[in-house]
Amino acid sequence: MLTDYPTDHVAGANMPGKQASADNYDDAIDAISRFLAEPPEGTPAEIIKAFELFGHQPFLPPGLFLETVEQAPVAISITDTSAHILYVNKAFESLTGYSREDVIGQNESVLSSQSTPLEVYEDLWRTIQQREVWRGTLVNHRKNGEEYLAELTIAPVLRDENQISYFLGMHRDITEVHALHQRLAFQRSLTEAALNAAPMVVAMIDANRQVLLDNHAYKALLTDCGNEEPANLFLEAVAQQLGFDLDSVCHDGEGFTNIDVRLDVDGGNSTRWFTCSGVPIPDLDDAARSYFQSGKKGSCGLLLIANEVTESRRRLNEARLNMIRANMAEQQMVGTMRESILASIFKMQAPMNIIRAAMSMSDTGSNGANMMPVLRQALETGEEAIDSLHAALPGTCLEESSPLNMNEMVQDVLRLATDRFLAGGIVVDWRAAPVLPSLNGRPNALRGILKYLIDNAIKALSESGRNYREIRIETREEGGNIVIAIMDNGPGMSVSAALKAFEPFYCGWENSREHAGMGLTMAQEVAINHGGGVEVDPDFIGGCRLFVRLPCNNTEESERGIA
Ligand code: FAD
Repeated sequence: MLTDYPTDHVAGANMPGKQASADNYDDAIDAISRFLAEPPEGTPAEIIKAFELFGHQPFLPPGLFLETVEQAPVAISITDTSAHILYVNKAFESLTGYSREDVIGQNESVLSSQSTPLEVYEDLWRTIQQREVWRGTLVNHRKNGEEYLAELTIAPVLRDENQISYFLGMHRDITEVHALHQRLAFQRSLTEAALNAAPMVVAMIDANRQVLLDNHAYKALLTDCGNEEPANLFLEAVAQQLGFDLDSVCHDGEGFTNIDVRLDVDGGNSTRWFTCSGVPIPDLDDAARSYFQSGKKGSCGLLLIANEVTESRRRLNEARLNMIRANMAEQQMVGTMRESILASIFKMQAPMNIIRAAMSMSDTGSNGANMMPVLRQALETGEEAIDSLHAALPGTCLEESSPLNMNEMVQDVLRLATDRFLAGGIVVDWRAAPVLPSLNGRPNALRGILKYLIDNAIKALSESGRNYREIRIETREEGGNIVIAIMDNGPGMSVSAALKAFEPFYCGWENSREHAGMGLTMAQEVAINHGGGVEVDPDFIGGCRLFVRLPCNNTEESERGIA
């Protein structure tokens, strides 16, 4: 039997640089000779060949292979092609509880606990009979009946002409590893159950912003955001407010608390408000080289918690909207008065200029001398009228600048115009950037521009006589500017009209009543005072598109003054 072979005498013999004792060497040679003279029944020919080879190998100790296999810490067995056991090592004996005498000649199925599904065995046999290595997990039992999970590798040993001669099996007990995985999975389920019960949005992200763990509220928000990861939207919004960056948060170990975040989801049709907090969590570093560097600070993850406060915001917003409504009505009244008075002043300049010209001609002619008093009186009366009109011109109220979110501004104006959209049968397609940086500006003045441009779009559509009427509004950030694009599918503007549109008193409407032609001029002035501008898109086909561009970092705005 193989067990009789005295392997414990062989270690170190004949090793280069080591002087093995002559006694040890002789013992090993003697053992190999005895083994080869009477090999145990069923010992594979390859094993016998290997012993013969190593018996005559001048640099390695004889029997090294056998000794290595014998002492390997993994359970090793060699079987014939029907899985009848020919050899097992010591680790096999101690793992299974079966001695060599118990199992030699038995099928490996002696280890089966009869609870591994049949398909697993079928796959095992299909694989090894195709001369491939099979790796998998089986439920085994020890001699004492105790079950354990065996992680098993079976390699076919091939002879000449690719014939399978033996199978080499190696297995280890992974019951504890499996139990650990189960416990981890259980912990994860517990954590997820606790998170799912929480009404707030919770997500754990890694250093690459990949979501590792989330809850029901997060998943629901993900769907509402059109599958755009809400964690990224939150981080982007917080970054804009705090200059936040995940690396520095990891480095400093400090997160952020209760930051107000506005998300314009569903293309801006639904605005959601959250107060968002982030807690940095040291990341699990499973890279091999980090094994000896446990104290070193690596990357980290972030636990994001966002509490939805949309409802309370909505109530506040309603009250704010009422104030804006009143304010804009007043602003519009004042604007209309200013526009009309300026138009009157402008129109009065024409006859006055004629009078001035007539007076200069009358100076030289003899008949004209008689006309002079009349003309002078007409001029004086006209100038008095213009002075009165100037005096009646309503003043502009200076508004404080404050940080503004242009999505919110657009939305305010759209809400205020809802009745008019409905009355005009106009479909509004509002495509808001999910997150926009704030800009410094005068809210009423900017709302005034938007209202003016949207009013123009409504008017253009009503003049077009089209059945399908659409206004599309988009916001985006582009090169440090907030761009608001307002489009309508009305008649559009000709190239010459687009050039004149910003000139004072130009009016291109078919029905020009109530329009003094100062609106776009004033809108442009407000935009310029904010460091931006309004422009007509000359290439737009199928209607009219205007862009309002406003810089995000508009620090000089207050110095320019405002109309
Ligand atoms: P069986 O009816 O014997 O086999 C189940 C299915 O396996 C059969 O329906 C058939 O599809 C296939 N099958 C079985 N024998 C053969 C064959 N000779 N040729 C082709 N297909 C066949 N099993 C364990 O449970 N635990 C182990 O640790 C283990 N170690 C092994 C190590 C080696 C090196 C080898 C070659 C096999 C090992 N096996 C092990 C598999 C074992 O030999 C049995 O196939 C298995 O235990 C199922 O035995 P059974 O009596 O329950 O069912």
